[in-house]
Amino acid sequence: MINRVRGTQDILPARFTDKTDAQIECWNLVEQTARDAFRLCGFEEIRTPIIERTELFERGIGTETDVNKEMYTFEDRDGERVSLRPEQTASVVRACIEHGMFNQPGLAKLFYIGPQFRRERPQKGRYRQFGQIGVEVLGQSDDPAIEAEVIEMLDWYLKQLRITGTELLVNSIGDENCRPAYIERLKEAIRQRLPQLCGSCNQRYETNPLRVLDCKIESCQPYLNELPVITDSLCEPCRAHFQSFTAMLDQRGIAYTLAPRLVRGLDYYTRTAFEIIGSQLGAQNTIVGGGRYDGLSQMLGGPPAKGFGFAFGIERMIMSLPDDAARSLKQVPDVFVAYIGERARKHSFELARRLREAGISAVVDLEGRKLKKSLAVANSLAARYALIIGDSEIDSSSYVLRDMTTGEQRNLSESDLIATLRN
Ligand SMILES: [Zn+2]
Ligand SMILES: [Zn+2]
Repeated sequence: MINRVRGTQDILPARFTDKTDAQIECWNLVEQTARDAFRLCGFEEIRTPIIERTELFERGIGTETDVNKEMYTFEDRDGERVSLRPEQTASVVRACIEHGMFNQPGLAKLFYIGPQFRRERPQKGRYRQFGQIGVEVLGQSDDPAIEAEVIEMLDWYLKQLRITGTELLVNSIGDENCRPAYIERLKEAIRQRLPQLCGSCNQRYETNPLRVLDCKIESCQPYLNELPVITDSLCEPCRAHFQSFTAMLDQRGIAYTLAPRLVRGLDYYTRTAFEIIGSQLGAQNTIVGGGRYDGLSQMLGGPPAKGFGFAFGIERMIMSLPDDAARSLKQVPDVFVAYIGERARKHSFELARRLREAGISAVVDLEGRKLKKSLAVANSLAARYALIIGDSEIDSSSYVLRDMTTGEQRNLSESDLIATLRN
């Protein structure tokens, strides 16, 4: 037997699994709700390839990040280095550059839904292929109204999914004018605490000191609390931008918490950074992360352009759903058609076609089972009704419709049948 690759998962119809994050109903709910919510704000979908040139991510993400180290990279037959995408922002920006999308008037407001790949150490709730949904706003404006609107949209999305008890954390991580001086101050302060800090903090001190602030190790926390925060080092334009952004959140009635130690893991982020954290997932409780990335287009060889966006893992979003979220989504057939005899079997296929033309989902027994076994299948599919057809039903043009929940049976003409099933 050949099993699936480690760290990947099969997404099954709910009746075949009790793992909620592997139920297709949950995936469809999270994806369809995103399409609906984003469309209301004028966002358009973009699809980019799963494989890209490795160079795209090396330039866009940097070679010293965790994400880069976890990439699936291989050499193609012609010697080109390609990678499975570990995230999609760099791909979206590449597509915007490649197709001249920055030349259009106004903003490109885009969203994507698709798998991403990271070769992480196997751990519970982490997959090497995981689903991600993201939103990117690209163009020439960095108006904080873009940030407030995107966050309001996200807030609306979470409400549609009935995810409550979340907290919005916001911060500004400065820009190329004010961040270098802050990083020097930060490094100086970290240097004095290196012996007390964990191994990964020591490593990050060398490669990406901002990310020391991100350390989740318990013993590091007291020392991290002493480190200088970037909010005290912002230049005037960054400070004004951040103030304007939070004022717009206030205007929209969106609650937030200032989180001066919040940073993003990727090098290209500037100014506004945010996270939405949930109450249900324990220590690793970030549900959504996002921020501004004004330098990315140029870093990838494109024109100067501003960018702001967010992304979230679909598995994590599913874990945050209320328990009964998927129940209402089960894809159950409206009617299961069972029959007695060869003539009724033929008639069933024709009737099923007419039901489907009327928009009713009809499943016919394809295995020629006896009535009793046929009804057992209808039960396991959780069909709302079963239709029972024999010779006398065909002759009288009257069908027996059985309510599978109550067991109640009724005789109906075809037009009454269609009217009943449509309700
Ligand atoms: Zn640490
Ligand atoms: Zn600044």
